[in-house]
Amino acid sequence: MSKNKSRESVKVVVRCRPLNRKEEPNGPAGGIVQMDLRLGQVILRNPRAPPSEPQKTFTFDAVYDANSKQRDLYDESVRPLIDSVLAGFNGTIFAYGQTGTGKTYTMQGVWLDPEKRGVIPNAFDHIFTHISRSQSDKQYLVRASYLEIYREEIRDLLDPNHGSARGLELRESPETGVYVQDLTSCVCKSLKEIEEVMNVGNQARAVGATDMNEHSSRSHALFLITVECSQPGPDGRKHIRVGRLNLVDLAGSERQTKTGVQGDRLKEAAKINLSLSALGNVISALADGRSGHVPYRDSKLTRLLQDSLGGNAKTVMVATLGPASLHYDETLTTLRYANRAKNIQNQPRVNEDPKDALLREFQKEIARLRAQLNHRRWRSKQKKDQLEGEGWERDGDEETEGEEEEVEKEAEEYMKMEEQRLEKEKEAIREDQSMLAEEKQRLLGEKEKMMGDLRKQQEAAEQLTAKYKAMESKLLVGGKNIIDHTNEQQKMLEIKRQEIAEQTRGEREMQQQMLVQDEETLELKETFTSLQQEVEAKTKKLKKLYTKLQCIKAEIKDVNDEHVRSRQELEQTQNELTRELKLKYLIIENFIPPEEKNKIMNRLTFDPEEDQWKLKSLVPAESESLQMKKRPVSAVGYKRPISQHARAAIATGHHSRYRAENIMFLELDGTLPSTSSVDRSSDSEMNQSRSLDDSPTKDKGVRKSRAL
Ligand code: ADP
Ligand code: MG
Repeated sequence: MSKNKSRESVKVVVRCRPLNRKEEPNGPAGGIVQMDLRLGQVILRNPRAPPSEPQKTFTFDAVYDANSKQRDLYDESVRPLIDSVLAGFNGTIFAYGQTGTGKTYTMQGVWLDPEKRGVIPNAFDHIFTHISRSQSDKQYLVRASYLEIYREEIRDLLDPNHGSARGLELRESPETGVYVQDLTSCVCKSLKEIEEVMNVGNQARAVGATDMNEHSSRSHALFLITVECSQPGPDGRKHIRVGRLNLVDLAGSERQTKTGVQGDRLKEAAKINLSLSALGNVISALADGRSGHVPYRDSKLTRLLQDSLGGNAKTVMVATLGPASLHYDETLTTLRYANRAKNIQNQPRVNEDPKDALLREFQKEIARLRAQLNHRRWRSKQKKDQLEGEGWERDGDEETEGEEEEVEKEAEEYMKMEEQRLEKEKEAIREDQSMLAEEKQRLLGEKEKMMGDLRKQQEAAEQLTAKYKAMESKLLVGGKNIIDHTNEQQKMLEIKRQEIAEQTRGEREMQQQMLVQDEETLELKETFTSLQQEVEAKTKKLKKLYTKLQCIKAEIKDVNDEHVRSRQELEQTQNELTRELKLKYLIIENFIPPEEKNKIMNRLTFDPEEDQWKLKSLVPAESESLQMKKRPVSAVGYKRPISQHARAAIATGHHSRYRAENIMFLELDGTLPSTSSVDRSSDSEMNQSRSLDDSPTKDKGVRKSRAL
């Protein structure tokens, strides 16, 4: 948990799902993917290649075959990451793979079956169990957000109006890095609450989609959890650590076919997987290490995951595969992608006392409310004591909890006593025969007012208490707010399971290291007793190296083929876009007057934040528009200066030339000019001009066209 930067590579694990019923009858039994769990290797066989061709082998941090349990994946590969988040690191898990290979199964799983619950529900459980078991001097604040990226638009899944609202924007601040502006964030006080948040988001996701399968294969879902923890440090002050966890279910990684698609649909198709191809480019650039520029800004997804890839975060990538021979190409692509991601280096560090910690603000607000409340109660107690004739003296600011409760009780008693007293006084006034009716009324009114004041005071105190309690309940205190229902035996079992997971991981790492060392040191160890033996050993080695060479040659050919394919695709897209552009040029050159085109061109500016061209508004901003608002005096009610002669001609309405004056706004304009301020001032002038003008119908005509 050192605060200093330390480098750490992205952990990559691969999971292969079982063959499904449709795939079983076709292809070889068991599929084309083999796994060596002990070594963390995936062996892929090309169903179209001759048996002599060597199989492709990839090594990862861990591999999970068709029989793997959700729990195993969690304990071995995810649990350490969540522990880091709870200690104040940023963490990201993303599931990458072709549609239907088990990304959602891995991330969410089957919620109702404890055996099949995925990474997300297990992480929820982990976080809240950790809080319930931590020491009572720790305070926690847990928040959750849920968003989806679809066609390069960010949608807030926790906002009830997200369907109608425009996509959210990304912003960047030097302190927190890239964040989503106006994203809903829910404070979660328990496991149940955070599950509810997830549910709401999942439903919102399904509502917008006509076909959920298709939708989920084209959109990225990000569930974000922020855990803030405050704990007194050795210096006696409370220190806050903030861990942010991104749980990402990516869109299907399969190639989206763009062939035969035109116009708007082409643009749409190009946008759907923009984020995913940008992610690929970012990973390549980072894995390469040589290229200085990493194209984070190319897509929303890569900007949001900027810290997770090559920055301040610990990252786990789960690549999912299907075992069917039909999908050999996609499976190979996924494995290559995952293999590249292994080389990304991150620099995770603990986020200590960041300026924007919400927990700090909450603590301050709670302290403020508490002080206010205490002040009120002390005042009431003081009055009560005076009423009872007791000498009252406040001894210092320190008060224990028991004392506080007593004060609260006394304050309540005081309120009751006051009420009774006022009631009695009122009664006495009513019964008093010696008073005049008027006097009585006045006194009664006075007492009534006092009662009202008292009640208002009481209400204010109640409101303050409610606010204080609500605020306080949001902060989770270690070992207090959440009750841990697991018994000792279960706890022991959990710990043992974690130990086993830890051991398996260690063993695998060792095996992998041994394998590498074996190859390197083979030569050094060997001493030969006879020439014959030496020849044998060297031939064996030669064979080994030869197969390796063949493997690499095949790899080079594969990669080349892939490049050619993607280049062809890009060229095709480019051709289609060029054709589209030519059409637009044709229309512009032939149907839009050059001066209008120039005017529009001058008004256009590119907004890199939103990745869009924007028209500058015709009406200048408030500060510049002062002179615009004023109309030349010579032309009250008209757009331009107008001669006396023309005005007379309009008034009599004979000459058609003057009638057309000032009727239409002839300039081309893509946007509706916001003329509200202009209109307001012109309205009064319009009324003036009406008195001059004896033809009200024409006047109306002018006004209407202006409003258009
Ligand atoms: P994706 O989200 O990648 O498109 P899904 O998670 O929806 O894929 O999985 C597709 C199907 O395969 C689902 O019916 C799921 O239950 C099943 N499945 C995926 N992975 C596994 C697994 N490891 N074990 C059993 N079934 C799985
Ligand atoms: Mg899915």
